[in-house]
Formats: sequence, structure tokens, C-alpha cells
Amino acid sequence: MFVHQIHLPHHKHSAENETIELPLPAKVTISMAQHLGAPCAPAVKIGDKVKIGDVIASSEAVMSAPVHSSISGTVTAITDVLHISGKYLKSIVIESDGLGEVSENIKPPVIDSREDFLKAVRESGSIGLGGAGFPTSMKLGFDPKEKQPDTLIINGAECEPYITSDYRCFMEDGEKVLDGIKLIMKWLAIPKCIIGIEKNKPKAIEKMTKLCRDIPEITVMGLKSSYPQGAEKTLIYSTTKRVVKEGMLPISSGCIVLNSSTVAFISEYIKTGMPLVRRRITIDGNIVGKPQNVMVAVGASLSEIVSFADLKKEPDRIILGGPMMGSCAFDLDYPISKTNNAVLLFADTPVYEPSACIRCGRCVRACSMNLLPTELEHAFDAGDVKKLSDLKVHLCVNCGACSYVCPAKRNIAEKNQLAKNFVREQLQKMKKE
Ligand code: SF4
Ligand code: SF4
Repeated sequence: MFVHQIHLPHHKHSAENETIELPLPAKVTISMAQHLGAPCAPAVKIGDKVKIGDVIASSEAVMSAPVHSSISGTVTAITDVLHISGKYLKSIVIESDGLGEVSENIKPPVIDSREDFLKAVRESGSIGLGGAGFPTSMKLGFDPKEKQPDTLIINGAECEPYITSDYRCFMEDGEKVLDGIKLIMKWLAIPKCIIGIEKNKPKAIEKMTKLCRDIPEITVMGLKSSYPQGAEKTLIYSTTKRVVKEGMLPISSGCIVLNSSTVAFISEYIKTGMPLVRRRITIDGNIVGKPQNVMVAVGASLSEIVSFADLKKEPDRIILGGPMMGSCAFDLDYPISKTNNAVLLFADTPVYEPSACIRCGRCVRACSMNLLPTELEHAFDAGDVKKLSDLKVHLCVNCGACSYVCPAKRNIAEKNQLAKNFVREQLQKMKKE
């Protein structure tokens, strides 16, 4: 099988700078939808006092993860906040008491069985820290009688330009990555692990190879530096040559893919009991004087983070995540969430006017999912649900490669996102009728 990939400039300016721990913010705004799946319901009310690590929201849904307070202080509002998706999401506002007190409930979980381990992962609030936000307990909660994976794949590709938070995790917390891997392999009886790291990070490959040298079950694999190497199905193919069949989950191929920062967090949680209340974020962009990674409380506003970035100018573009798959924030009041791995700030951003398609086929050659982006665009413009389904728009991974390579600057990837929502809505409507 030939996997289409493209080459992007790396721009990993922050790679060699140590992560800086930011002070706790004066206020946090924590959304109830910090992950894919069911949003949580607030478990606190206005006026409640909370400490770091206290549960402030939860859900009974399987596809969810509880949300914890990242500072100590008082709940001052529970309100709808406009999210970058365009939807209003319930959020809890906490004002700090300046004490940074840790909850009395924080203690390492006791783990004697697979069930204990999965329960701990769920209670930790862990989600995929690579940006996708898939609840980790859901990913690991497979039924071994139905399908027992034989390979754990650690996603250290970090193929988007600028972002180095996973790289810094390997360099600063490589031991935690290894410990998290061992815990998952032990409690879920997964016999082998492959750590996939792009070859443009030789120091991370070297560090992890050294750490794993006496563990034959764990292999560190250098991967081609191409995009989207870190997309789940692409990574599974690159590391194992297995193909995830259409409509199937990665586990059908015997693999489970977890991000390196996620496994490092699991190790930390099992040792300390401190849930996911802070994360490492890359700050970079063409107006950032000090590209670096920072460790920051979930719910802190972008302005708190940016004040450490030595901005040269007012940004005209604030991207949460990478330039290929990230979303633009409206302003610097926006709060960061568990899924944000980068804040990129740009000024003087060129704005391109799309011109007519010249049928060059570059978008087709760029698509790692072997889709036909031009045909998808036509079908979306025509509102043709059947054709969009036949063309398998649902397989689009929103990687943005088709838009990136298009010489006519057509917004094809953006339209595919709209097309996926359109098909979903139309099919739901048809079901109701
Ligand atoms: S955004 Fe979708 S259609 Fe475009 S290249 Fe990526 S997977 Fe293919
Ligand atoms: S890359 Fe752009 S110009 Fe070329 S075929 Fe695709 S949409 Fe048309």
C-alpha cells in the first residue's frame, strides 16, 4: 500500500528550550467539554470552595472523562462560553484564593487488577493529549474476549509544524513515558510496544532507545518526517504495516495508539493521584520572541500564557493547535483546554483569494486517506448527500494537506469538515422522517 504524505517546514523553534512552569492563574474558565464524547455536568455550584484536583464536573457516559479544578478558590459562575466550534458550552469559572491548595482527596490510586487500573485512568480525567481529546479510559477499555490488542503504539510523531510539546515530554519526562507504557502493557496484557518518533527528533529517539535498551518488548522506531505521520491509521501502517479497514476502529488491527504525553500523564497519576489539571503547551509563531513550552493550568486564559511569550506585535491570527489542524481562537480571553497542545500567534498573515480549480490533481496525491478532495467539494457545493457518502467523506481526517498543496488556494479541507457535518445532519434528519 502506498500512503500519500506531504512535506512541511518543521519550524520546531522551541525544541531545545526547557519547559517553564507558569504561576497559577488568578482565574480559570473550565469547559464541560474537554474531550470527545459526552460533556460533563457541573458537580459544584456558585459559591463553592474548591481545591486543586477536586472533581468539579462528571458524566455517567462511557465516552467521557471527569473534569477537575486546576486552582484553589471559589466558583463564581457557571455559564455558557462561546467555543471555537461555534457552539456555546457550559463552563465553570473559578477565582483563585491565591493559596494553590491541593485537595485532601488526592492520593495515589490502589491498583490490584485490570479493573482498578481502568477505573483509575477514568478518574484521572485523562484524554488524548495529542489534540484529539479521545477519553483514554474508553480507548483502553476494550473487551479482551472480543479483541485483545497485541501492540501498543506510542505516537511521538508530532508531525505538525511548530509543536514540540511531545518532544519536550520525551526529553524531560522520558522515564514517565516508559513507566506509563509498562503500566499499560502490564494491566492490559499487551505484549509489545512500538514508540514511533519522527526522524527529525534524533535526540528523543536516542533518549528513548537508551531507556528501553534492556526491554526487548519495547521498540523505538524512527519514522519518516512527513505529514500526517501522526494520524492514527497512518501511524499504525508506518509502524506495523497493518491496515485499519474502512469503518473499523484501530483495535481491529490489534493496535492501540496513545500519545506520548498521555502515557507520561498516566504514570504521574498512578504515582501521585493528581488528575489532569495542567498540561504542556508550545507557544510559537512569527511574532513570538521566546518560542518555548510552558506547563499551564487547564482553564487559564490565553493572555496569561502569552504574557510569557515576548510578543513583538498584536496577533492577527491565534491558532490553538498546529497550523494544519488547529482552530483559530477569537481573542486572548479564550481559555485553554486539556486538548490544546500549542498556541501559535501570527501577524501579517497573508489572505489568499481562491481561484478556479486547474485540475492539477495535487490534492488527490496529497490525501493520506486516498479521497478525491475535488469531487468532495463539488458534491458538497451541490448538496449531494449520497455522492458525499459514496466518496467516503466520513474518512477525511481533517489533516488539511489538500488545502495546503492546492495552487489555486481553494479551501477544500475546510469544506470537507462542513461536508461531514452536513452529511451527519441530513442522515439524522432522514432517520427521523
Ligand atoms: S483534509 Fe481530508 S480530504 Fe483533505 S487531504 Fe486530509 S484527509 Fe484528504
Ligand atoms: S489541488 Fe487545487 S487546483 Fe489542483 S485539483 Fe485540487 S483543488 Fe484543483
